[in-house]
Amino acid sequence: MSTTVSGLRAALATALPVCAATLLLTGLLSGCSSGSGAGKGERAAASEKAAARPPAPAPEAASDAYRRWGLDKPLAAPPAPPARKLTESVQAGGAPLLVRRVPTRDKVVFVTIDDGAEKDPEFVKMAEDLKLPLTMFLTDDIARAGRGYPYFDRLHALGNGVHNHTLGHPNLRTLDPDAQRRQICGQQDALAKRYGARPTLFRPPYGNYNDATLAAAGGCGVKAVVLWEATMQINDMRYAQGGKLRPGDIVLAHFRGPKELKGTSMTRMTANMLRSIQKQGYTVARLEDYV
Ligand SMILES: [Zn+2]
Repeated sequence: MSTTVSGLRAALATALPVCAATLLLTGLLSGCSSGSGAGKGERAAASEKAAARPPAPAPEAASDAYRRWGLDKPLAAPPAPPARKLTESVQAGGAPLLVRRVPTRDKVVFVTIDDGAEKDPEFVKMAEDLKLPLTMFLTDDIARAGRGYPYFDRLHALGNGVHNHTLGHPNLRTLDPDAQRRQICGQQDALAKRYGARPTLFRPPYGNYNDATLAAAGGCGVKAVVLWEATMQINDMRYAQGGKLRPGDIVLAHFRGPKELKGTSMTRMTANMLRSIQKQGYTVARLEDYV
């Protein structure tokens, strides 16, 4: 849903005048004089105004944005997402799917960012400029610290999903089923309260889980437990298999700052990651469109 809005916004931005795009997206009919209720005179006045306006930014704006963040060229547009999501087969309250890699032949990978420690405002600008699809897995204790959730609200407002990574980042395998349930369902409740819907995706800290984890996750509304096979390090990617990306790879990254990245910023790490994705002939798609 949020995906569709951001995709729609990008499509509309090129296809329609700003006013019409805004109208379609917000459903507000009153703000645009060229709306369907406008009279002929008003419409003519509006089109004169439009003619007087400077021309819309040329398409090179996208490559300019990429250059600003140190990338030679924009990411390719992802192909149309599949008609059916993987989780459509999951019954409410039933066992969630376990997803390490998305089954697809598309040359796409998915960017996931965990925990929520670093809250670099530059990264929000980058995500906004590049219209980068990303999926967040937040731990309540970690996300809450410092600037707190308002930082992630901004990324969410760009159409990016916020999902569950427990309340306190424990190794779930060391906890009994009740304690696991508190960790997972507690964060489901907190995120539902903040973002209006229960997350459908869950990632166990360290990728550690057992049967009780899956039961707890399913019981509190999780449709898929999302793991990974590719990891973004400070400057390069690590792969669980084969030394390169494969279609449908889920790339794990973290909200980390110069202290954890040996002086590298989150935006530079992201640029390195995107460069590597491009170089290998892939683009970034939105995980929620597939799973
Ligand atoms: Zn984590």
